Amino acid sequence: MKPFAYRRATDARSAVATVAADPAAAFLAGGTNLVDHLKLGVASPSLLVDVSDLAADLVEHLPDGGLRIGAGTRNSDLAAHPVVRAHYPLLSEALLSGASGQLRNAATTAGNLLQRTRCGYFRDTTAPCNKREPGSGCPAVEGHNRHHAILGASPDCVATHPSDLAAAMVALDATAVVLGPDGERRVPIGGLYRLPGDDPTRDTVLAHGELITAVELPAPFGGRARYRKVRDRASFAFALVSVAAAVRMHDGVVEDLRLVFGGLAHRPWRAAHAEDALRGSAPTEVALRAAADAELLDARTLSGNGFKVPLARNTLVSVLRELTDVAAEPEDDA
Ligand SMILES: Cc1cc2nc3c(=O)[nH]c(=O)nc-3n(C[C@H](O)[C@H](O)[C@H](O)COP(=O)(O)OP(=O)(O)OC[C@H]3O[C@@H](n4cnc5c(N)ncnc54)[C@H](O)[C@@H]3O)c2cc1C
Ligand code: SF4
Repeated sequence: MKPFAYRRATDARSAVATVAADPAAAFLAGGTNLVDHLKLGVASPSLLVDVSDLAADLVEHLPDGGLRIGAGTRNSDLAAHPVVRAHYPLLSEALLSGASGQLRNAATTAGNLLQRTRCGYFRDTTAPCNKREPGSGCPAVEGHNRHHAILGASPDCVATHPSDLAAAMVALDATAVVLGPDGERRVPIGGLYRLPGDDPTRDTVLAHGELITAVELPAPFGGRARYRKVRDRASFAFALVSVAAAVRMHDGVVEDLRLVFGGLAHRPWRAAHAEDALRGSAPTEVALRAAADAELLDARTLSGNGFKVPLARNTLVSVLRELTDVAAEPEDDA
């Protein structure tokens, strides 16, 4: 590990000024992702500005019925918060499906959202990787790609975003409050993440030195919600596929819904085609399957991840059945 300087921030503005002024500086929160990267040689900042104490226990009501979550709020605290459990259970389910108790005690809200891909080549500095070293190539395209993307990937990068919380935040229509050297701006979490395109080095639209200070949730969506994660082990494993879903019914018809896939793309994948197919319709088994198929029409598989298409389809249909009380029917082979 390369030597680095360490400074504990006492306020957000000075943290932003310090990091923005030094291209080799980085924010440090719980450190559960960044410190791994220091040890692996994936990241080598000259200065770490520790922001983990800023807004560490802030969960407060907003006048419009929403909730403001401080960026430093620990994953365990957020998952257990009574208001979150009562009104945003999707968030608790997503958080509790991730990592382990010890990690969740250290990991923060912003750090979780900004964790980097778990692609093995990215974390192995002896391998080429366009995300780590632009122009060096993407060995995952022809190599080990079981966990990799089937939606929105590019020839330059087929990585997936690993955060469970991010998928839930997109489904909840959350907004990141971001402080930069020029002041504050608000970024919907749905627009925070980038697809890789020809520049996979950048995961998000944030500029160097921009600090997430809080995440705001709108008033509860209502209806029913579920976060379901499919993975290789029952715990302590990243999603092969996950679904964050919220559905509001009225008179037997889907009044409104939000559907997001995790584990399928470089960003949480808002399943807008599936939403459009179901909004205003009666949720029959046929309609649920057609909606999932409409979303996955553009899926492009690699040598090792073709199983993700039926897995994503079946997971989405199964979650929607549960949320709309549709009984499962055998599939017609014809
Ligand atoms: C074994 C293991 C299993 C795991 N399993 C899962 C899982 O199943 N699901 C899941 O979602 N996650 C999982 N994780 C990832 C874990 O959730 C993340 O490591 C953690 O959430 C990162 O939060 P942190 O506060 O420690 O971030 P840090 O490691 O401190 O920072 C992460 C990144 O965010 C940046 N950053 C931090 N705070 C801010 C801020 N306020 N503004 C701007 N930039 C900031 C840092 O500069 C860094 O680039 C796992 C991790 C491990 C080690
Ligand atoms: S998928 Fe992306 S992160 Fe993985 S090796 Fe290719 S370029 Fe690197």
